[in-house]
Parts: sequence; C-alpha cells; structure tokens
Amino acid sequence: MCRRNIIFVIFILSNFFIQAQIPADYSIGTWYKYKQAAVSYTFDDLTSNQLPVAMPIFDQYGFPMTFNVVINWTASNNWTLLANAAANGHEVASHTVSHATLSNISINEQITELQNSQNTINSNISGNQCVTIAYPNCNMGDQNTIAQYYIAGRTCSGQIISNSPANMYSLSSIICGSESQNTSATNLNNHVQSAMNSNGWCVFLFHGIDGDGGYSSFQSSQLQSHLSYINSNYSNYWVGTFASVAKYIQERNSASISESAISSDSLSVTISDNLSNTIYNFPLSIRKEIPQEWEDAKVYLNEAHISSNTITINNTRYIEFEAVPDAGTVYIVNTATAVVPPPPPQTVVLHEGWNIIGCPYGSTNIESALNDIWNYVIEVKTFDEYYASSNDPGLNTLQMVDYAQGYVIKVSQSCELTW
Ligand SMILES: [Zn+2]
Repeated sequence: MCRRNIIFVIFILSNFFIQAQIPADYSIGTWYKYKQAAVSYTFDDLTSNQLPVAMPIFDQYGFPMTFNVVINWTASNNWTLLANAAANGHEVASHTVSHATLSNISINEQITELQNSQNTINSNISGNQCVTIAYPNCNMGDQNTIAQYYIAGRTCSGQIISNSPANMYSLSSIICGSESQNTSATNLNNHVQSAMNSNGWCVFLFHGIDGDGGYSSFQSSQLQSHLSYINSNYSNYWVGTFASVAKYIQERNSASISESAISSDSLSVTISDNLSNTIYNFPLSIRKEIPQEWEDAKVYLNEAHISSNTITINNTRYIEFEAVPDAGTVYIVNTATAVVPPPPPQTVVLHEGWNIIGCPYGSTNIESALNDIWNYVIEVKTFDEYYASSNDPGLNTLQMVDYAQGYVIKVSQSCELTW
C-alpha cells in the first residue's frame, strides 16, 4: 500500500502554529479518481496508420494517447492532424529531432535534439505543452540535460512502473507488436492486470499498426478488443497520457493539505505543492472524512460549487473531489446549512499604529485568524472586548473573532494580513 498516511508535524514555535502535511482525515488517491492502476498508450515515430486507424479506436472510448513524434519524420500536413489530436486530449510529445541515440552524441548535440524538438512541437501546436520525451532506441542520454527540458522520460525495459518511481527519467514501457511477446489483446490485458495488482503504472509502446511499414506492427482488431476490456473494467483503470500520469505522481508526492475551520459547518482547505504551477496543473483526487454531525458535504473552489461524491468505506463517510494544487481555496461545507463560503482570500494592508478591519471568518480563535501578523499585534478591541499581547492571557476578554464584525487593531509595524 502506498497511501500517504505518514503525517509530518511541523512545529513553528515562533507563532505556535501547527501544520500537518496531510491531515489524518484526508488522503490523496494513489491514482486519479482512486483507480487501482494507471495505463498509458504511447505511439512512436508517427507511423502512417497511427492517426487514421488507431486514434479513432481510442476516441471511441474517450481514452487519450501519447504521440512521440520525430520532428524530421513528421510531414507538414500531419501537424494539423496532431494539433486536432492535442485539442481532443491526446498528448504530442518528443522523440527528438532526428531519432539520434542520445547517449552516442555530445551534450551540445543532445541539447539541440531535446530543445529543438520541444520548441517545434510547441510552435506547431498552440496550447500544447511538450513536457515528456521517449528516448530513440530506448537509450537515455545525459539525465541532467534532459531534466532541463522535460519532466519525465520513457525507456523500454518491459516492467510495470511503481506508483512512486525512483527516477522519472527512466520510466519503463512494454513494447507491443510483432517484434515482441505482446501481440494480442490477452497479452495486453494481462499486463494491465498485473499493474492493478501492484497499484502500478503500465505504459505500452506501439509503433506500426496493421502492417503500415512501422516497426513491430500491432493489429488494430486486437487494440480494439483490449480497449473494450479496459472500458468494461474502467472502475479499476485510469487511462492517462504519459505526461498526465507523470504530473500526477509528482504532485501527489509533494502536495500538502492544510485545513482551518471557518465555523462548525464549513472548512477552508488549502492544497499546495512546491512544483511549477505552469506545468504541474493536473487535478489530484482527494478524500476527506465527513464530520459525523454533518448531514453530508458539498465542495466549493473559491466561490464556485464543484462536483464531488460521497462514498462510504467501512461505515465512514468521505467526500471525494478533485483539486489542482495552488489553484485556489477549497471550501467543504455541511449540506444541512445555508452557509456559503466566504470570498477568496483577501489581503489587507495595515499601517503601524491603529487600524480598523472586518473579519471574513465565522467564529475563529483570534490567534489563528491573525496568524500572518501575530508577531506585530499589540492590541485588538471591540466595544466590549479587549486583547493585549502584553496581558496575562487570562485577562484578555477577546478570544474569538466573528464573521462581519469590525475590530480596531494596533500593530507595531506595517504588515499585510491575508484573511
Ligand atoms: Zn522511434
């Protein structure tokens, strides 16, 4: 099992702030939608039947493919077809400019192969992000150089990939077709079953289709039969592009979740990671245990209601939803209440001395609410309550702040409060 049940507890003593990386009542799915295994279908060299014969079979089921194209072998009229494929959810990724064996050429030549193939793909396909590569002849070049351009690279050593690979630049694939042991739907079905048994990632590698002249041809009728099997067992399998699965793994393994209570009926949840938001933009599947006293839960992203499912496992109810890390604040709300989430976080600039602020939170401990600026808080007042940092804590009558209430606050220097 690889659920991230390990909790890191970080004590930041200066402001007495406790953060768990993943709170105990949350989990992130090993795979998207909590499927048992991930499956990717990669197609090298853009052989002549990949787009007209193989792609319609995938489109019939809504399953995405990954095309690893060689720039020098891609006819100009195929860029339009690839652009349409990308707009339909398929991935167009690198297989270098000239199909050079990277380990046989200089670092400068490798840079040219890596960089120019990526730039050419991105300039021909607007909106496409070329972030992964399949190494020609399955031969990885200089890893540090590759890592400057790509988030993951594919080899062909024939294994199922673990759900947390040690190296994202030597990800194995399983070669299919006449030059391999994998010529039938049954062979492919067996591989995805073993991926399911190990909660792993199965990456298939195809070249020729129906004897189109490409290497190791595979029969489209067997592809059809295999995809029909996947479709019938879709609750077990996540079919994702090579890039989507690579992103998911990295996001899942670096995400942290923090929760704060707005009221007894609503929670504010932040999902963040330390990865580039322009590349790592794939949603994670997240479950949170629904508080026992709640009727059920609904989920908002900022102010928009988003879809979620309530599921019960061993008599415990969970709300399951998707969220891209660092893409906004998630609110989980008791369906029994009319509570609506507050607007997205707002930043208030405070000047040294006295300020008036309005509280956007439901009843919240003053120290948590003012966590950002707590070191600068000297006094906080309302008409009938008072807090002073110099007071013995027992003498402070102001302990909680409330939604829509105004507070007069004195700070020791200019600072920014993000509510
Ligand atoms: Zn190739």
